[in-house]
Amino acid sequence: MSFRAIQINKTEAGQKVGIVELTDADLMDGDVTVNVTHSTMNYKDGLAITGKSPVVRRFPMIPGVDFAGVVESSDNPAFKAGDSVILNGWGCGETHLGGYAQKARVKGDWLVPLPQGLSAQQAMAIGTAGYTAMLCVMALEHYGLTPDQGAVVVTGAAGGVGSVSVAVLAKLGWQVIAVTGRPEEADYLKGLGASQIIERKELSSPGRPLAKERWIAGVDSVGSHTLANVLASTKYGGAIAACGLAQGLDLPATVAPFILRNVALLGVESVMCPKPKRIEAWNRLVQDLDLAKLATITQTIAFEDIIPTAQALLDGKVRGRVVVAV
Ligand code: NDP
Repeated sequence: MSFRAIQINKTEAGQKVGIVELTDADLMDGDVTVNVTHSTMNYKDGLAITGKSPVVRRFPMIPGVDFAGVVESSDNPAFKAGDSVILNGWGCGETHLGGYAQKARVKGDWLVPLPQGLSAQQAMAIGTAGYTAMLCVMALEHYGLTPDQGAVVVTGAAGGVGSVSVAVLAKLGWQVIAVTGRPEEADYLKGLGASQIIERKELSSPGRPLAKERWIAGVDSVGSHTLANVLASTKYGGAIAACGLAQGLDLPATVAPFILRNVALLGVESVMCPKPKRIEAWNRLVQDLDLAKLATITQTIAFEDIIPTAQALLDGKVRGRVVVAV
């Protein structure tokens, strides 16, 4: 039986993306085959589809770093036909065929059972962006930071990682300062629990090595000057969890916040994150993310809308999270 997929091909003229019909024989090796019901769109998917960054390292490729679905067949003892599962990362959409297809075949070790209390749609509304937001929150907690020590800053706040971070941190009792380039989204961010909004431009240009101490913690999905300025305004003993590069891959900072204010920079990576930590993050999301708020940050698109939405996402025009009804 054939199934639909988005396929990226590399031609001499550049990258070509379209919807194709494939069969099981086109899938890559793996011990579990999944009927994909939902996927989502992350920043990295936008980069892959537009070809703006070399995310895809095998052609032809099915993009999509996330999927949720139901196991069709399994040679892995941990899964059986009918199980609901989710997948985030592990190179899917980069080196292994990804989630923008009605079928996927992957290593069972990559799959996480759909957490109790979440539907496949909700799991994809969270997606890699939301699960990474939770990894950032866990990194701050692991470092020992608590809401009574000061405020937390979230950059790229109206984006996917940002929106989930704001919602989770507010629910955990943090005073959340949201940084956004879309001041028209102030009401949206306050609805998620932000108590203060800062305009992106206040932090996105070159700043001083040290600035006024404003927050004890932060989740940064932006990088570049923004992260440098966030570090420069972090209170003594604070820490910033850094996971993204929406402004840039560079970090034009000085060591001043580290050596004069004992500030820490915590790196967060989701793709190769070990399974126990993933399961912990997903369980925490069930507990600490208000599903009513998740619904307000989510829009659902059809399979046909994936390609046009990719550019809009990179242009910073997509608010919150996007679910793909596969
Ligand atoms: P989104 O596109 O949903 O959000 C990014 C947000 O960043 C935008 O909504 C915008 O927020 C802000 N932004 C965009 N351009 C700029 C700019 N030039 N300067 C400053 N801010 C900007 O993406 P995601 O939330 O899915 O991902 C965010 C980042 O995190 C990406 O770089 C992504 O690659 C990375 N990431 C990393 C992971 C990891 O494992 N380390 C996992 C998941 C994501 P606003 O409009 O509010 O200003």
